[in-house]
Amino acid sequence: MRRSPLLAALSGRPVSEEAPDRDKAPALFPGSAQLRHVDAGSCNGCEVEIAQTFSPVLDAGRFGVRLVASPRHADGLLVTGVVTRNMATPLRKTLEAVPRPRVVVACGDCAVSGGVFAGAYGVIGPVQDLVPVDLEIPGCPPDPSAITSVLRGLTGR
Ligand code: SF4
Repeated sequence: MRRSPLLAALSGRPVSEEAPDRDKAPALFPGSAQLRHVDAGSCNGCEVEIAQTFSPVLDAGRFGVRLVASPRHADGLLVTGVVTRNMATPLRKTLEAVPRPRVVVACGDCAVSGGVFAGAYGVIGPVQDLVPVDLEIPGCPPDPSAITSVLRGLTGR
């Protein structure tokens, strides 16, 4: 009997990368990190890859990383998209609601550098122009394995 691709993926070996060397990259939030996702002006391509990151195949949750609904329950922000004028204040206020210590992860070329929307009407700039950025995940869109690798660095798992 032929197995479904989903069943094969679930029963196979993990497809993510090896955990980062703890001596070289000490975890900011050892064991567990909660992130609030903020779409600051994304085309939603990055969101598709984030969904893959937390899908049963890569399952970033097994490394102690979770997406949470409230910034007050979060250790940091996972920001996608170039920051539009309408999202500048919500982005700042969401970060203010995150308790310290906190981390800001810019996910995707738009969030890191403005990407294809740099200089466009209605755009302020990359995330670092609005709030301090601690980690960057380049790519348009970023590869789910690259997102997983950076998020694993937060928890050290
Ligand atoms: S980096 Fe690419 S996929 Fe992500 S929001 Fe920008 S254009 Fe879309």
